[in-house]
Amino acid sequence: MTRPAYVYDLAALAGHAAAVRAALPERVELLYAVKANPDPGILRTLAGTVDGFEAASRGELHHLAAVLPGRRVAAFAGPGKTEEDLAAALAAEVARVHVESATELHRLAGLARAAGRTVDVLLRVNLPVATPGAVLVMGGAASPFGMDPQEAVRLTDDPPAGVRVRGVHAHLASGLDPAAAATVARGVTEWAVRHLRAGEVNVGGGMAVDYRHPDRRFDWHTYGRLLGEVLAEHPTVRLRIEPGRAVSVYCGSYLTEVVDVKRSQGRWFVIVAGGTHHLRTPAAKGHSQPFVVVPRGGAGPRTDGGPVTVVGQLCTPKDVLAHPDDGDPIAVGDVLVFGMAGAYAWNISHRDFLLHDPPNFTTGDPLALARVWGR
Ligand SMILES: *Cc1c(COP(=O)(O)O)cnc(C)c1O
Repeated sequence: MTRPAYVYDLAALAGHAAAVRAALPERVELLYAVKANPDPGILRTLAGTVDGFEAASRGELHHLAAVLPGRRVAAFAGPGKTEEDLAAALAAEVARVHVESATELHRLAGLARAAGRTVDVLLRVNLPVATPGAVLVMGGAASPFGMDPQEAVRLTDDPPAGVRVRGVHAHLASGLDPAAAATVARGVTEWAVRHLRAGEVNVGGGMAVDYRHPDRRFDWHTYGRLLGEVLAEHPTVRLRIEPGRAVSVYCGSYLTEVVDVKRSQGRWFVIVAGGTHHLRTPAAKGHSQPFVVVPRGGAGPRTDGGPVTVVGQLCTPKDVLAHPDDGDPIAVGDVLVFGMAGAYAWNISHRDFLLHDPPNFTTGDPLALARVWGR
């Protein structure tokens, strides 16, 4: 039995990131949200294409310093920043600190004054923004993230010494299609310019990723064109976005071998090495993770069409990776190549549950590797 493995296709990632960058207006800065996947190979691959990295913890700050020494971190974000966190951001000379509350702004200002510095910040604001037709209102509800609009106005009009309020940060929702994401960008920018006379606006990430249709990707060209219209309306504003999932998700695969195939009460169960302690995404998001079967000709039982439940090696009914209604036959010894595992996958998994071995990590073309895997 070959140990399960994550395979990162860094060539594909480089191509995808370059296409995303090219689809955006020059005046839009593209940051990568490191929390989606901090794998060093992924960060190094993106380093040449993105305009910067967004760290959402002190750990990510230190990680970026180790993986990309000398590269200035573009943004430091996240709720509940402690004195230690903010001191680390000061020491790293992070370009922008995204401030989540008045308390945090004063905490940062105090540290900055003590260091004889003035720190550039964006205020994270929880703004109500309606999508066309107002089917969906994003932000504006009670939230631990960011501050209410009137608080941001107050802090911008009367900031403590030690900080310079440069503008607004908003990350209001995820799963946005290009039109909705651009509407959010327009709404946030209009508010920021009107109420704060803000020069900088970071509209966050959250670009949609469709796990049921791996081929239907976020349309960066349409989004870029719509952002261009927002920029034309606000010629002096510097606009930033900070996607994570939609950048790295497609470059990752999780390869695992089928250990057992059986039928229970009329339903096929496929049991693979590993499981959701390696790839928690389907359990966390409640979807069926897409996969491809690479047949390796095992003897014994073989699924014969119809619904299949693909589970891992954990002693819990929640350890379900996929549950397709139909698909290619699967036998013991086949390799399943789970796609869309390049974001919020290994790094969100409860890796110590049951103390199974961790997966291996490698780079390359996942299907080519699966064919020769363990041979
Ligand atoms: C998680 C997060 C992102 C990235 O979101 P994606 O859905 O991965 O694009 C960006 N900004 C903030 C503030 C976040 O918390």
